[in-house]
Amino acid sequence: MKTMTCKQLGGVCDQAFTASSFDDLAQQSKAHVAEMFAQNDQAHLDAMQAMKSLMMKEGAMQEWFDAKRAEFDALSED
Ligand SMILES: [Zn+2]
Repeated sequence: MKTMTCKQLGGVCDQAFTASSFDDLAQQSKAHVAEMFAQNDQAHLDAMQAMKSLMMKEGAMQEWFDAKRAEFDALSED
């Protein structure tokens, strides 16, 4: 299993996600952000807004995803 934090995934807090695959980790991160949204957490709302403008560029989302996936792959197992 490998661990990445909300912060490492473009978020703002130290919530850690542990998974054996990046897809699983991304899923957990998504659920976390959705939960923070539901609680109207301003820091996460701001981070998502910043992320959204970053993703305006064609292909930026895929690039970002690939970069994070590479980061995950480079991590050592817990
Ligand atoms: Zn977070």
